[in-house]
Amino acid sequence: MPELPEVEGVVRSLGPAATGRTVRDVTISDTIIRSKAESKEAILKNISPEEFTDRMRGMTILNVTRRSKYIYFHLEKDGVPSLLVSHLGMSGAWFAVGSLDEVTEGKFRRHIHVVFGMEDGGLLVFADIRRFGELRLIGGESDHPPLLAMAPEPFDEEAEGHFLEMSASRKYRDKPIKETIMDGHVISGCGNIYATEALFRMGIHPGRKTNRISMERRAKLFRVIVEILGEAVEAGGSSISDYRNINGEAGSMQDRLQMYGKKHCPSCGSETKRRTIGGRTSVYCPKCQH
Ligand SMILES: [Zn+2]
Repeated sequence: MPELPEVEGVVRSLGPAATGRTVRDVTISDTIIRSKAESKEAILKNISPEEFTDRMRGMTILNVTRRSKYIYFHLEKDGVPSLLVSHLGMSGAWFAVGSLDEVTEGKFRRHIHVVFGMEDGGLLVFADIRRFGELRLIGGESDHPPLLAMAPEPFDEEAEGHFLEMSASRKYRDKPIKETIMDGHVISGCGNIYATEALFRMGIHPGRKTNRISMERRAKLFRVIVEILGEAVEAGGSSISDYRNINGEAGSMQDRLQMYGKKHCPSCGSETKRRTIGGRTSVYCPKCQH
């Protein structure tokens, strides 16, 4: 699943390709139209395909930014601002192309679900193999309260204090540390890959209870998470599962991962262990992580 660095990679390539362009028309796949007709919420959230198409027509994209694992398209039509919030789910990808033939990778090409035809003749395409992605058209963040409940951006100054406070709260103090750091209310954008790496670098067992780690070590762990997220942003994210930026490229951070998906510990050579924590598989070294 794309985490902060992968979403940042999409935004950095999508921003220049989308900014300043105006939507002329929208095409939605039959799969999504059928799903919506059965009252399922595949991709288009809280809006019918007709209303989505109608409201998106004539929208100008002012800017594209990232908030946690979400892509924000800041829009405007007739002087009224709107926000299109996109989540990549497990396998969502955006492409900026002249025609659909340019989406060359078959697995994405077969799963094109929303196409924005732009006034300049080009296309902005959302493809999603497993359809866990989301598009939500709202007036602003306050129209969708979960967006306001997200932890600050990890690179922002207040993020460390927020993390320390949340980690000491009743809700998180007895949880395994890995579950705590992967919770978007505690830290924004840190998922399984980067949580696994940070805990390995710190020598902390993923199942250790949050309050069994001193505040000082928790603060250090937070800084290690930020450092790893920063390295991964610079590397363009990790080419894991179906992540692509809008040029169809994936990043190179996977070559620098030391514990995620590994069978042996790079530091002591022990066989790594796997355990489910917070519903996700955790890999760790039983010798180096306590
Ligand atoms: Zn080890």
